[in-house]
Amino acid sequence: MRIWDPDRECMARDKLETLQFENLRTTLERAYRNVPCYQKKFLEAGVSAKDLQHLSDLSRFPFTTKEDLRLNYPYGMFAVPLREVVRIHSSSGTTGKPTVVGYTRNDLNNWTELVARMMTAAGVTADDIVHIAFGYGLFTGAFGLHYGAERIGASVIPISSGNTEKQIMIMQDYQSSALVCTPSYALTIADHLDRMGLGADSLKLRVGLFGAEPWSEEMRREIETRLGILATDNFGLSEVMGPGVAGECEYKCGMHIFEDHFIPEIIDPETCEVLPPGSMGELVLTTLTKEAFPMIRYRTRDITRLHYDTCWCGRTLVRMEKTCGRSDDMLIVKGVNVFPTQIEEVLFQVEGCEPHYQLVLDRDGHMDTLEVQVEVNETIFFDEMKKQREFVSMVEKRLAATLGLRARVKLVEPSSIPRHEGKAKRVIDRRKP
Ligand SMILES: [Zn+2]
Repeated sequence: MRIWDPDRECMARDKLETLQFENLRTTLERAYRNVPCYQKKFLEAGVSAKDLQHLSDLSRFPFTTKEDLRLNYPYGMFAVPLREVVRIHSSSGTTGKPTVVGYTRNDLNNWTELVARMMTAAGVTADDIVHIAFGYGLFTGAFGLHYGAERIGASVIPISSGNTEKQIMIMQDYQSSALVCTPSYALTIADHLDRMGLGADSLKLRVGLFGAEPWSEEMRREIETRLGILATDNFGLSEVMGPGVAGECEYKCGMHIFEDHFIPEIIDPETCEVLPPGSMGELVLTTLTKEAFPMIRYRTRDITRLHYDTCWCGRTLVRMEKTCGRSDDMLIVKGVNVFPTQIEEVLFQVEGCEPHYQLVLDRDGHMDTLEVQVEVNETIFFDEMKKQREFVSMVEKRLAATLGLRARVKLVEPSSIPRHEGKAKRVIDRRKP
């Protein structure tokens, strides 16, 4: 198994922390000196780079949010003059203006190196033919993977997105061995193969690098079975760099975050307090080497958990779990943070549960109550009472183990939960007056 940059990826933690500390201090100084938004925030919080005596002092610095980027649209967050910027990308905003990010020549070089690390970790080598089916454009996905794959020495096919049948023809004729796209597009390709009467063995694919959207372990299994490949996950966001912030190794036990370039923290999205290692919460990232667009404590809104024990692959870099939803979706029930996606994961694993459910929050006196209404198939819905009760208690036990609180489960008839534009309304909160 290859490691692209063993000196950096297998560094002892004390050495890594020394490196992080030095680069963090420089980043804080540069951000303060060159970006009015950071200057204002630091002054308001009464902190300066000199207050950083230890890495943990980072928690004294203010957060940066998507809103800050919007307020400083387009170039207000840049820490270098535009003449030093050699690339501009942006992320589509769901509301209003997009966010604009810039890269110096050094930034592009670092980005390319990190993607090369990530792709090597997934098993890509110079012998691979890499099929990049992300859309080329302002979005960071395609260009990020493109240059990383070239650096490894792989042969890159910049096919871009769309026209799936043509994609399949190219994959067959050019013998693509590594597929880069979103996990949902990988399933679209599998559907098209089925429709064309072709098996996975008609392609030479052996590995997939999937990112840009959250996906479950069930989806991974489906992609692996249907395309006959090793499906790996990776993580990145344009505000922080793009793809190459973190990626899975072949053991698929969490994405290694490239900590010599980014410091991850996990916070409680409600109180904004930093949580102890191993806690589930919102991922906050600080960049350590970016020149054009440094990010100090950027709130990603992605919910995950970090594991610090060394991986079988030999990398010492922390691993982040697959993201499970966004902090904007978080519910607080009896003081416990609950994400609808956690409930969804449990229900997906129970045979007989349909993928439609509704969460009803209410109050009994001063106590919160959570009811999970689940659509079940007809066999279970019309089953005898005793069997139904057993089924309910099994689902309740599984939910309690995952959520850390008791939820009441109510079985409802198939198709009985109202759909809005094809999607069910997931949460009904009756606790609010
Ligand atoms: Zn590993």
